[in-house]
Amino acid sequence: MTSSPNLSPSYDIIVAGGGPSGSMAALAAAREGCRVLLVEQFGFLGGSLTAMGVGPMMTFHNNSGDQVIRGYPQELIDRLIAKGGSPGHVEDIITYVSTVTPFDSEMLKIELEEMLTEAGVDILFHTLLLDAEVEDGLLKAITIANKAGVSRVEAKVFIDSTGDADLASRAGVPFEFGREADSLTQPMTMNLKLGNVDRDKLIDYVKNNVDDCEFDYGSELGLKRLETAPRLSLKTFIKALEQARKTGEISFNREFILLFETSEKGTFIINVSRIQGLDPTNPLDLSKAEMIGRKQCLEIFNFLKKHAAGFENAIRLDSSSKVGVRESKRVIGRYTLTAEDLLAARQFDDTIALGGYPIDIHSPDENGTNTQFFKPGTTYSIPLRSLMTNEARNLIVNGRCLSASHEAFAAIRTTPTMMAIGQGAGTAAAFMQRSESFSDLDLDLEQLRNLLEKNGALLVPPTAAIEA
Ligand SMILES: Cc1cc2nc3c(=O)[nH]c(=O)nc-3n(C[C@H](O)[C@H](O)[C@H](O)COP(=O)(O)OP(=O)(O)OC[C@H]3O[C@@H](n4cnc5c(N)ncnc54)[C@H](O)[C@@H]3O)c2cc1C
Repeated sequence: MTSSPNLSPSYDIIVAGGGPSGSMAALAAAREGCRVLLVEQFGFLGGSLTAMGVGPMMTFHNNSGDQVIRGYPQELIDRLIAKGGSPGHVEDIITYVSTVTPFDSEMLKIELEEMLTEAGVDILFHTLLLDAEVEDGLLKAITIANKAGVSRVEAKVFIDSTGDADLASRAGVPFEFGREADSLTQPMTMNLKLGNVDRDKLIDYVKNNVDDCEFDYGSELGLKRLETAPRLSLKTFIKALEQARKTGEISFNREFILLFETSEKGTFIINVSRIQGLDPTNPLDLSKAEMIGRKQCLEIFNFLKKHAAGFENAIRLDSSSKVGVRESKRVIGRYTLTAEDLLAARQFDDTIALGGYPIDIHSPDENGTNTQFFKPGTTYSIPLRSLMTNEARNLIVNGRCLSASHEAFAAIRTTPTMMAIGQGAGTAAAFMQRSESFSDLDLDLEQLRNLLEKNGALLVPPTAAIEA
């Protein structure tokens, strides 16, 4: 085994994966004075938001419009706003959620790098987590591979933010996959980014074809927001899409064109492709998904240019560099968060983050998207114990692969909640490292919550849910 030149052989905390959850975890741990190494397979941070063309961030608010996520994720947005990289939280015209947060993905990469570098995180790009060493229920070291060869790095606490539970799996932590009945996961999607869209023409189309659009809380509210929201979000072109599926112009299941304008007016993220029945953790399936996704994106681009008002002169900026994986392995941790916990807005003594996004399940095998909306004002809680496992006590499983049912996961999976969980994970890791207790069971939860709140995190729902 060789060693990466100048790489320290041991750290306080190692974070595997630099997506939204991993970046916030590394930031939080480093700001608590820990020596942190972040290992990321790509050459930039942001995960799905930068590598998979995902956006906007959705959502920092609950369905009554109360902000439920602040702390370091909000600091990131504030920094982007100050540099012109985001218009901030804007009303969602679709009315699916209260607000969405568009951003410039290139500026996001730089801003995350600056925040983490300022905090002293050692960022190791182009480095793949390969394996884990576990001894007596504790993770001792990981093996990584990069241009320098294969290296071994030790730490006191590890955070798995790979989205696919790569580290937890290598450490022998059991996992679940997909929905209970048949283990099918939510579909993969390759997002497409288009520029030069005539947004005024698109707005006119929506106003004149309200029956060709979907507004989850009614067209009256949607059209009202259309007048004031500084960026567009729409579900539209339903009829033309249905027709195109009949003629074979569109070869896959999808019920509407889902469009989100980025921070740049006239530039849109098209979240439409749908790749079902493949396993994102099977390398052959994943390769197949990349190829299917690219072909679907071409079909969508041609469809929009031909049939969609405002897209006649659109230009293709890119299809995302990696196919978007909504769901893969979810570890079986010390507590599995359930849909019932979210619906009842259950609070926990070890809550580390809140969320307000609905249960949003893109069908694993059919055409639709099934959403369970919460009663007004619902804010749910995510407990630290859902990030902890019995197999490796000093491993925190953060982000997309934490312990939650298929349904609960479908609510907590979006990026603001993932970032809030990341701040909680990094702060808890710092506590564990400091106390050398290596278990959440021995942590002083009150102190942890106090520190999170001091750093801006919201842990208490702003309003009690109103009985529907
Ligand atoms: C198509 C699609 C559309 C979505 N739409 C939205 C939306 O509109 N708004 C929203 O807020 N959310 C949306 N989501 C959900 C959201 O993007 C993800 O759930 C969220 O990004 C998960 O964050 P994460 O940090 O856990 O994982 P990820 O964002 O997946 O980040 C994981 C990181 O780990 C790295 N990594 C993985 N394995 C390794 C390894 N072995 N070694 C080193 N590095 C590794 C990856 O490169 C990546 O950077 C969407 C998701 C998809 C797929």
